[in-house]
Amino acid sequence: MEQCNQVQAFVDGIEASVAIVGRDETGQLIVPACNDHFLRMTGGRRPGIRMFPVLLDTVIPNYARRDLREKLAECFSTGIPQELEQAYDLRDGTLWWRLSLKPFRHLDDGREATEILITGLDITAKMLLTHELEVSTSRFRSVVDAAYDAIITMDQQNHITLFNRAAENLFGYSSEEVLGQPIEQLLPEKFRASHHKYVQQFARSPVLSRQMDERNRVYGLHRDGTLLPIEIAISKINVTGLIEFTAIIRDIADRVRLMDLLQKQAVTDELTGLPNRREFLEVVGNVLETDAELSVFMLDIDYFKKVNDSHGHDVGDEVLRLLSKVAMTSSRAEDIFARWGGEEFVAALPGVGIQQAKALAEELRARVEQQDFQHRWRTGKPVPFTVSIGVAQRLPGERDVNELIKRADLALYKAKQTGRNRVEAG
Ligand code: GH3
Ligand code: MG
Ligand code: MG
Repeated sequence: MEQCNQVQAFVDGIEASVAIVGRDETGQLIVPACNDHFLRMTGGRRPGIRMFPVLLDTVIPNYARRDLREKLAECFSTGIPQELEQAYDLRDGTLWWRLSLKPFRHLDDGREATEILITGLDITAKMLLTHELEVSTSRFRSVVDAAYDAIITMDQQNHITLFNRAAENLFGYSSEEVLGQPIEQLLPEKFRASHHKYVQQFARSPVLSRQMDERNRVYGLHRDGTLLPIEIAISKINVTGLIEFTAIIRDIADRVRLMDLLQKQAVTDELTGLPNRREFLEVVGNVLETDAELSVFMLDIDYFKKVNDSHGHDVGDEVLRLLSKVAMTSSRAEDIFARWGGEEFVAALPGVGIQQAKALAEELRARVEQQDFQHRWRTGKPVPFTVSIGVAQRLPGERDVNELIKRADLALYKAKQTGRNRVEAG
């Protein structure tokens, strides 16, 4: 007992949480001595000084016993120091401790005994910090992964350091596959060289974020080799003194498809699929800026009103589409055949003089008249129709498309006046 008191006095003097654990004759774990710090750690009540040694279970709460016992057993059997971290729930909150268990031998009543010295270090502050970091890391990860846009970060060597879920979906790679890999792998071959230069220049510039190449379409490269139309905003971020780049990438395939469709619709006649008047004027205007030879013709279906009146509007539409097909199959690749409006069509024949233009127009007129084409009429039998055509040639140095069209229109008028189903030149 005297010795016990001395040990108790010794451990009480230590400014750390300390306990000595031994085993009684029956092998039960006992605590011959522990200081107040230790009891504050476990939340145990201090036994009277005469009560020591006490059973370990009287000073260690239920929930912490199993882990501690396991480590103590290990320590007793191997003689190797052990460590463990434990949380103790106290009235004022949870405290985290790192316990180190060290076996030591001493003489007890003349025989050698092994006891274990437990010292506890309060690591609550560190655990809270770690927990906070875990929470904010997991929040960051969730936000990044929930983002609609692909987010990719890379270091100054152009190596990928972050690849979110949207990026995985967009490019077809898993994050594990691309982390640490060069970003070039996600770019089409022809952009690779210029991309590296672009990033270097951006790294040096004072600008912190910018939209990448607003004028031209930017493409990414999917794992399967397809090109991905994308929009990229790139930012510089300072990660503990190192510059990293974050690219926010938006998949604009749908937008590009829509833009292409709208662009096509803007220049196409819906009924026939031919270029419309606007497109025709644009193309002819471009030719007139050069000094190239050019002829045009204007075509009008004869008595088209009668077709509508006798067979219905749908058959009228069918005639318009049929005529478009026939004209397209008889024109050259460089010609443009367009719908002017209603049952009027126009053609531009680059590099063609008036005689050849008249011949081409005559060929088309004759094909229509003779029904020199394959067609399954919805009426079950052919609907005969004819066309009148007015041809005009570009005058040397002429730049005004309206003047040229006006002469073709006059020639067309003449063809109508002189009996229809004819070609006239103006
Ligand atoms: P002309 O020989 O003098 O050219 O006689 P026309 O009957 O062809 O001339 P008009 O200009 O009097 O009639 C043109 C008709 O074309 C009137 C209009 O209803 C019809 N039309 C215009 N656009 C369309 C269309 O998209 N579909 C159909 N089915 N008919 C159309
Ligand atoms: Mg007309
Ligand atoms: Mg007509």
